Amino acid sequence: MPTSVYIRALRQAAGELGLSDAALGQVQTPEHVWQSTVNLTKDTGAVEVLPAFRVQHNSARGPYKGGVRFHPQVNLDEVTELATLMTLKCALVDIPFGGAKGGVQVDPKLLTEAELERLARGYVQTFFNQIGPTVDIPAPDVNTTAQIMAWMADEYGQLAGLPTPAAFTGKPVEQGGSLGRDIATSLGAKYVIDALRNRLSHASPITVAIQGSGNAGSGLARLLSQDANYRVVALSDSQTSVYHPAGLAVDSVLGHKRATGSLAGWSEATALPSSAIIDLDVDMLVLAALENAITAENVTSVKARSVVEVANGPIDDVADQALHSRGVVVVPDILANAGGVVVSYFEWLQNTTQARWSEAQVVAQLAQVMGAATQAVSDLLDQPEIGSMRNATYRLALDRLARAMRLI
Ligand code: NAD
Repeated sequence: MPTSVYIRALRQAAGELGLSDAALGQVQTPEHVWQSTVNLTKDTGAVEVLPAFRVQHNSARGPYKGGVRFHPQVNLDEVTELATLMTLKCALVDIPFGGAKGGVQVDPKLLTEAELERLARGYVQTFFNQIGPTVDIPAPDVNTTAQIMAWMADEYGQLAGLPTPAAFTGKPVEQGGSLGRDIATSLGAKYVIDALRNRLSHASPITVAIQGSGNAGSGLARLLSQDANYRVVALSDSQTSVYHPAGLAVDSVLGHKRATGSLAGWSEATALPSSAIIDLDVDMLVLAALENAITAENVTSVKARSVVEVANGPIDDVADQALHSRGVVVVPDILANAGGVVVSYFEWLQNTTQARWSEAQVVAQLAQVMGAATQAVSDLLDQPEIGSMRNATYRLALDRLARAMRLI
């Protein structure tokens, strides 16, 4: 397997912080790797045995925290890497959680709603002894929704014998979720982009293309389009890119997507293939879809001066090094998309203290946490030897983590 971006970045940061190979090995090794199965009873009565995972990477800074994904390609390597990224992300934004991730190898699009509910409850039955509000707090991830978190929290409460909403985050507001959670990742990314604007581009307005128009991409498109410092000129989904050099009417485009399920057919902009979003001549490219959006295959066609990783791991290692050597500034995922886990932390805080925060409170606290992390990254970047924003974020995260583990 090729070295992933995070392994190279961790090694570099460890070297610069003076961590020994043994200490780095300790940081990289997950504390617990749980591999089991969920027996899913289909509506027909047939039973499917599905591989299921929970990797608890590190708890030196607090309880494990991380999403559960339902996807046919979920595997132990992927879950372990994502759990490690969660540890680093929580350390970077300085919230008192460690990192974990979970998943079930399944195609949820082939399940009925009743089957999906049984799968969600089955996951909790399988890992009931491993998770809990002070131990390991799962959240939504790819293909797992607020409704799925509500089923999981309910199942946990039934098994525990008392309601335990703090065992899961990302729940619907009516079931103990936090106001502001749906927009948290996009808002966090907007704070980061605003704070780093002068490092990302000196254009005014900054032209932006956004890959992915799901929860994270569409929210960010809306926020950027409401700010005169930016002009959102392109947006894509898995089928199509829509492009207008004078700027898209983002609300209308997203209204069309909501109504038809696709960006295709939007007639007030040029329609291009989905992959063309990567090649556009823009100041800033936001990646808010999937892993490996930019690889050795297509990195030479990137024309943007800066790239923002809202998705987890959207740039592979070869492409990351190529972009860096061309002077393209990359805002790494562990900073750019951390707004989601920060508001998950606020949800957990509200649940554990029986409090309800207003949306304004959530937004103000999020701005403070993201602002502090971004300022720390920016200060470190002022030291010329740091080189890249990826190195700055990993240096900060690893420094905090290694101190909590008493390795420094
Ligand atoms: P989502 O499922 O709501 O949206 C994904 C979007 O990507 C959809 O618009 C889909 O059409 C598009 N897409 C899929 N394949 C594509 C392709 N080949 N080209 C262009 N677009 C494509 O997901 P989301 O919640 O918006 O998450 C997006 C990414 O951000 C994921 O990597 C996720 O892990 C990451 N992330 C999300 C959050 C969050 O709170 N939503 C938090 C942290 C990280």
